[in-house]
Amino acid sequence: MQIYNTATRRKEELVTHEPGKVAMYACGPTVYNYIHIGNARTFLIFDVVRKYLKYRGYEVAFVQNITDVDDKIIKRAAEEGKSPEEIAAFYTEAFIDNMHTFGIDDPDVRPRATQEIPEMIELVQRLIDRGHAYEVDGDVYFSVRSFSKYGELSGRNIDDLQSGARVDVDERKRDPLDFALWKAAKPGEPHWTSPWGEGRPGWHLECSAMSQKYLGVPLDIHGGGSDLVFPHHENEKAQTEAAYDESFVHYWMHSGMLRINSEKMSKSLGNFLLLKDVLDSCNPNALRLLMLQTHYRSPLDFSDARLAEADTSYGHLCATVRNLRWAAEHAAEGEQSDSAGIDKARETMRADFVEAMDDDFNTAGGLAAIFSFANECNRFIEQHDHMDAGAREAALLSADAIEELVGVLGIAMPSEGADEWPMEVCELAAKTCGYEGDDPHAAADALLEARAQARAEKNWALADAVRDGLAALGFTIEDTPNGARVSYGE
Ligand code: AMP
Ligand code: ZN
Repeated sequence: MQIYNTATRRKEELVTHEPGKVAMYACGPTVYNYIHIGNARTFLIFDVVRKYLKYRGYEVAFVQNITDVDDKIIKRAAEEGKSPEEIAAFYTEAFIDNMHTFGIDDPDVRPRATQEIPEMIELVQRLIDRGHAYEVDGDVYFSVRSFSKYGELSGRNIDDLQSGARVDVDERKRDPLDFALWKAAKPGEPHWTSPWGEGRPGWHLECSAMSQKYLGVPLDIHGGGSDLVFPHHENEKAQTEAAYDESFVHYWMHSGMLRINSEKMSKSLGNFLLLKDVLDSCNPNALRLLMLQTHYRSPLDFSDARLAEADTSYGHLCATVRNLRWAAEHAAEGEQSDSAGIDKARETMRADFVEAMDDDFNTAGGLAAIFSFANECNRFIEQHDHMDAGAREAALLSADAIEELVGVLGIAMPSEGADEWPMEVCELAAKTCGYEGDDPHAAADALLEARAQARAEKNWALADAVRDGLAALGFTIEDTPNGARVSYGE
């Protein structure tokens, strides 16, 4: 497998520190607001990287942090008259909820900065002891010039950085480039006791402390959006490498920015769409599809039109899978149908999918392989209104293969029938017979049972009301020798 490494600016063969295992860390959100779809793109990408590595047989340990103490959280709390803890707790829960709705798996560990303060203090102390950090009036700074490899990851030259730095307002720093590891507490801010007085960690510190604690050094993969390369990741690297004299990360992966009208989507520019709002009115699978149709390192232009197109493509793919399964079960019995072509096309899809994904997670190429096979499947169904046992099996294997490969990208096909039966039937069952769930099939069964009971009790009005209510929603009740059967759209 080839992975593009930001640190070397080229694709490299994946060779993990421990054979067969991948230690992977991705920076998580700062929880002061709901996440927008740009953040979601980055989180999606690392979810897909993880899923694909597992598909290729790796054991993946994945850690993603939550930044729950930060200037932005403190500011938001002050604006809303709440405590920073309340703000952070609320948006942490909202974030996790959003991730679940979007089909993103939980990381193996999701550490929170506020729960890891002793580890961070230990790391700061270690940097001071090794001459890489110094304390001034309760603040502790990392001494950038003490670390000769500073700038290596982002390709910046320390002298250029120096001349580019504005005359620093904080004259207590020995060098304008130095950054805060620990900040002395201001009144009303969250604070913890440290050897340097009451204070709180600087932003970059937590990722170095948490990745070391949960995954050790070196990490195989460290990821985030490309806006984190500098200074966040450069600073994480400096902290960890200065503390442990070890290389921090083998493969640095950075996702391109999601843009709207060619401008980066960001909270500060105010041009953002919240993930929760977008998912309120679209299928999460369609949004995943839209995002994965572009290579992860390229910028991605979002628009409603593109989302609508992705929704249509997703619908076509679902229809292909449904039609394959339907044909396998219902096609008329035929002799000697030819399934060699579709079997070969299926193998080609698998090979093309793996080839694309092995090439730096080319999800667009992987999806193209799946869609091209789906076209073959549609032709196969058209040409086989009669099927023998071999063709039926080929149809089922093809449906399974499509589902499996889109599943590696986290895209789910609707389970059999679940999508097609209207949810209104649940309301009808709730009103008529006290049904409490949200499964249209179970609701229809409950209605049939209520109807049978009404008939036994000669309550014809109720029995008719059930039948009419179902008919109004497009259902038909068929009384068979083996009891009533309800069908929809058949
Ligand atoms: P934040 O909560 O701002 O630290 O962002 C969380 C993650 O979202 C980071 O990995 C950022 O790099 C990423 N991110 C922020 N804006 C965008 C964007 N417009 N497109 C893609 N990723 C983004
Ligand atoms: Zn980080």
